[in-house]
Amino acid sequence: MNNLNYLAAIKKIDGNQITLELKDELNIERLKRVFSDYEGERQAELFIKDPRGFTSEQRAFTFALMNDIYSYTGQPFKSLKDIFYWQFRFLTGKDISLKNNSTNTVDDVSLLADLVLDFIFENHIPFKEGYEVAPQNVEYFFYKCVMTRTCCICGKRGADIDHFDKALGRRKRKSVDHTEFTFAALCRTHHQEKHQIGLSEFKSKYKVIGVKLNQDEIKKLRIGG
Ligand SMILES: [Zn+2]
Ligand SMILES: [Zn+2]
Repeated sequence: MNNLNYLAAIKKIDGNQITLELKDELNIERLKRVFSDYEGERQAELFIKDPRGFTSEQRAFTFALMNDIYSYTGQPFKSLKDIFYWQFRFLTGKDISLKNNSTNTVDDVSLLADLVLDFIFENHIPFKEGYEVAPQNVEYFFYKCVMTRTCCICGKRGADIDHFDKALGRRKRKSVDHTEFTFAALCRTHHQEKHQIGLSEFKSKYKVIGVKLNQDEIKKLRIGG
């Protein structure tokens, strides 16, 4: 089969006529191939998403995480899905699916992605490349990076903990209230790059956000020296 799936925004409804704007580019070459020599009506199936449903970014992020686990462990994608979906069911008593006809919400998939993230950090799964972290998981992702000293860009372990949004400057590490700062875990290379290109350029290049820590976490990470 040559079915094509697109995500689109509904722009206008006028009786039976609906105007859609595709989020991705239409693969016109492929459509031509599918319909060449075909005389019948060209049909599409319309599936209108419940706004409470999860986003395609969330799905892409969750699958990107699982894909990195697959690359590193060789565990087939299907069985990874089974494991995490089972965990989700165990915690919530609900089923989960990331298919288009799924009835799962933004919060459901946010929890699922957090479960996969826990596995990634506990098992030190390297990131293939930086993630487009779904907005719902951003805080948790950068927090886990800091707490496990995992570079939030490349996944390298033993990362430095950088005072991210506001530099420590000349103030003494011991006498500063570190709870007023935000932190990011960066490997040597990415840490150096941050100080070379500066905070704002670094942020727009890598979409890193700094996270706040409480007194216990600061002590655990030995940030206060
Ligand atoms: Zn790095
Ligand atoms: Zn630094």
